Amino acid sequence: MLKEQNNDQIKSCLLLLEKYFININDPIRYQLWNSLDLNSLSSPDRYLKYYGYSAYYRDPDYYQPTVLSIIKDSDKTYKAFISFSKCTSQGIPVVSAIISVIIVDVEGELKVTNTLLYNLEKYKWQENIRNGITFRTSPKIAFESKEALELVKFNSTISDLFETEPLRFRYVACSTFEEMQKVRGIDFDLSAQSGGIAQTDVDNSIIYVSNGKLNYFHEVVHLYYYQSYLKTNCYSEFWNEGLATYLGGSMNQSLTWHINQIRKTMAFKKYDFTDLENLKSIDVLDSTNMSYVVAAILCRSIFNKSGKSGLEKILLIDSIEKSYDLIQNELGISKSQLNEYIKSEIEEQ
Ligand SMILES: [Zn+2]
Repeated sequence: MLKEQNNDQIKSCLLLLEKYFININDPIRYQLWNSLDLNSLSSPDRYLKYYGYSAYYRDPDYYQPTVLSIIKDSDKTYKAFISFSKCTSQGIPVVSAIISVIIVDVEGELKVTNTLLYNLEKYKWQENIRNGITFRTSPKIAFESKEALELVKFNSTISDLFETEPLRFRYVACSTFEEMQKVRGIDFDLSAQSGGIAQTDVDNSIIYVSNGKLNYFHEVVHLYYYQSYLKTNCYSEFWNEGLATYLGGSMNQSLTWHINQIRKTMAFKKYDFTDLENLKSIDVLDSTNMSYVVAAILCRSIFNKSGKSGLEKILLIDSIEKSYDLIQNELGISKSQLNEYIKSEIEEQ
């Protein structure tokens, strides 16, 4: 009897998810969502949207959601595993991600619930709030006040620079990459298998770190860049990463450290820094991304020359052509001079 009741509930969960995916493009989908999440997150279904481009664009070529299984998690709670997959033109099936979401019985009605918020409470992640930053730390790590205050200070410095109020955000400190993925319900992500220290969910103002540190600055800059993007509609990944690396370092190391890393490899490797779009594909060292470092060097030069007004100009760049114009206008360096300029910046540090 009990088993049948469970089966009925699981069928109802399936129907709920089906309804959700049919309506994923419509705000109406939030009627199927736990209202507590909507008070706390702007985009509680961020990862379902992010990995489910198929449903988002209603494009059969994108990744399609499939409910793999639904299990009972506790008395009134179910957990659903959803894969996003497609077939390549050669007919090979590819799974891009497997995401888990929680379905909870709210006063007799099943509602979809955000996995992060659910897990933080279920596994008793510590909460400490400092100057508008809500730190949530894994039970496996200690809350380090000193590091938290360094982040508060950095947030205040960056807000001055961007001439805005210090941003309020969540900072989720995990002990490993696996824990960082699991706590927000990413059970598998094809694009993230190599790891990574930190990520930012700009829609919900949440920073995730996997190294257990409370003072990972780089991601904070991305939050400010995103706020600027909302105002200007100008976005450039190159300058976004450049600013974050210049102001906040990368992979827990300063810009100077990364420049030194590149200089060491220049003794036996030849680089060409002219094509800004192609820098990503240059292989330096696991720890150092060439595109981030070159963009950060350019940000440093522009700041040294023009200060805040330089930042305002960087924030208006949304194409690679405009990037070359900015470098020419701000630094007097033409595209053909760029390679020599970057080389000298690296060698002379
Ligand atoms: Zn970044």
